[in-house]
Amino acid sequence: MMDAAAPRRLGAGRLVIASHNAGKVREIGDLVAPFGLDVVAAGALGLAEPEENGATFRDNALIKAEAAAATAGLPALADDSGLVVPALDGAPGVFSARWAGPGKDFALAMRRVEEALAGKSDRRASFVCALVLAWPDGHHEVFEGVVHGHLVWPPRGSNGFGYDPIFVADGDNRTFGEIEPKEKHRISHRADAFRQMVAACLAPARP
Ligand code: IMP
Repeated sequence: MMDAAAPRRLGAGRLVIASHNAGKVREIGDLVAPFGLDVVAAGALGLAEPEENGATFRDNALIKAEAAAATAGLPALADDSGLVVPALDGAPGVFSARWAGPGKDFALAMRRVEEALAGKSDRRASFVCALVLAWPDGHHEVFEGVVHGHLVWPPRGSNGFGYDPIFVADGDNRTFGEIEPKEKHRISHRADAFRQMVAACLAPARP
């Protein structure tokens, strides 16, 4: 019997990566490669980049995935992510990329976070990733991954990107800028969301 709440599974065929970020397209492509999917980037199909004006990571990932699926007539996968700091009421949140300014200067973005935190003892922070898989008929599946930790100052390490040099995951004392990419990819918010999506939509169905 079909379970009405069961996630829709993704069959073999073309999958649009609804991102214009070459790094993300490559990372997602690597991840889904073992599942017999033929991955194509939104940019390669000439799809426009929709405005990310959602209030949440989930809203923004949904905007990107639904726009790409509807225009391409193919299933599409999008992710949206960022740093959430409870003592800053969740900022920078969906504005994580924008805190770096037009020059995408993350040394500046990290300094802005540190200045905003001045005098606050609560230095907890999380990275959050919303992953949306959307089909051309309007169906979609949403997965949210998270990694909890705290912020340090000054920044340490040159691996990773964005806010990695000031983020230390719970149970560790090294920043994401100091750990090897392989290790980050095991524990990150993105890895968490992907594991959930693979289990729900891609892994071979259990008999
Ligand atoms: P997006 O590409 O619109 O999802 O923006 C994500 C932004 O959040 C990036 O530009 C980074 O500033 C931040 N971010 C997301 N994931 C990470 C991560 O794994 N490490 C560091 N910063 C991240």
